[in-house]
Amino acid sequence: MTGPFDLTGRVALVTGGNGGIGLGIAKGLAAAGASVAIAGRNAEKTAAAIAELKAMGGRAIAVAADIADETSAGQMVQTVADQLGRLDILVANAGINIRKPPEDYSLAEWHTILDTNLTGTFLCAKAVLPAFKAAGGGKIITIGSMASIFGGGIIGPYAASKGGVVQLTKSLAVSWAQHNVQVNAILPGFIDTPLTRGGRQSAPEMFAKVVDRTPAGRWGVPEDLAGLAVFLASRASDFITGTAIPADGGYSIHL
Ligand code: NDP
Repeated sequence: MTGPFDLTGRVALVTGGNGGIGLGIAKGLAAAGASVAIAGRNAEKTAAAIAELKAMGGRAIAVAADIADETSAGQMVQTVADQLGRLDILVANAGINIRKPPEDYSLAEWHTILDTNLTGTFLCAKAVLPAFKAAGGGKIITIGSMASIFGGGIIGPYAASKGGVVQLTKSLAVSWAQHNVQVNAILPGFIDTPLTRGGRQSAPEMFAKVVDRTPAGRWGVPEDLAGLAVFLASRASDFITGTAIPADGGYSIHL
C-alpha cells in the first residue's frame, strides 16, 4: 500500500493489544504495513495475539508489561526500541473497569482503575517521548470511552479516568506539538470484548438499551476501531491533534 495511510517502516506499540479493541487496532496497523509490539500482562493471551499478527504476514513482538508501573512502562518502551529499532506510534489502549455504585468502591479499587486507565496512559506517553523525539515525531492514540462524555450510575472511577484521558490528550497535544507529536483520543462506543461481556452479565440493565440507542443498530466489534486508528497513526492526520473522535455507530449523537 502507498499513500497517506501507509505505515510501512513504522513501529507501533499497542498496550493491551493482546485482546479486544487493542488487538483489533493492532491488526489494522499491521495491515497498513506497521511492525507491531503487543504489550500485556497475560503471556498466553499475548502469544496468541502475536501468532494472529504473524499469520497476517506482519512483524510482531510480545512485551510483558504492567503499564500502571512506571519502571515496567519504561522497560516496555526500551524493549520495543531495542528489538524493532525505533518507535513511531503508541496506542495507549490498556484499561479496566469495576462496576458498582460510587459509595461501594474501596480506595484500593479507585486507585486500581485510575492507576491503569489514566496514570498508565500518562506513564506510557511519557515513556515514548524520547524515542519519538529521536524519530523526528510520532503519534499517540489514547482510548477514551462514551464515559469520557457521559456519566453512569455504576462507573464512577472509570468515567473519571476516561474524562481525564481526554483532558490529558489535549494537554499532551499542546505540549508536544513542538516535537511533531500528534496526540488524539478515540472514544469507542459499545464494543463486544471480554471487558463488556463481563459487564453484560453482571449489569445487564446498563447494556440493555445499547442497540436501540445506537443508530447503526448493533454493537461494535474491535475491527470497527482499526480504520480510525490507522488514520490517526498515519501522516494523513499530521495536522490533527488534541481531538477526541467517537467511533460509536452514532451512539453519542442520538437523543
Ligand atoms: P479487554 O479487557 O479485552 O482488554 C483490555 C486489555 O488491557 C487487556 O488486553 C489487558 O491485558 C490490558 N491491560 C489491563 N490492565 C493492564 C496493565 N496494568 N498493564 C498492561 N496491560 C493491561 O477490554 P477492551 O478491549 O474492551 O478495552 C480496551 C480499551 O478500550 C480500554 O481502555 C477500555 O476502557 C476501552 N473501551 C472499551 C469499550 C468497549 O465497549 N469494549 C468502550 C470504550 C472504551 P492483560 O489481560 O494481558 O492484562
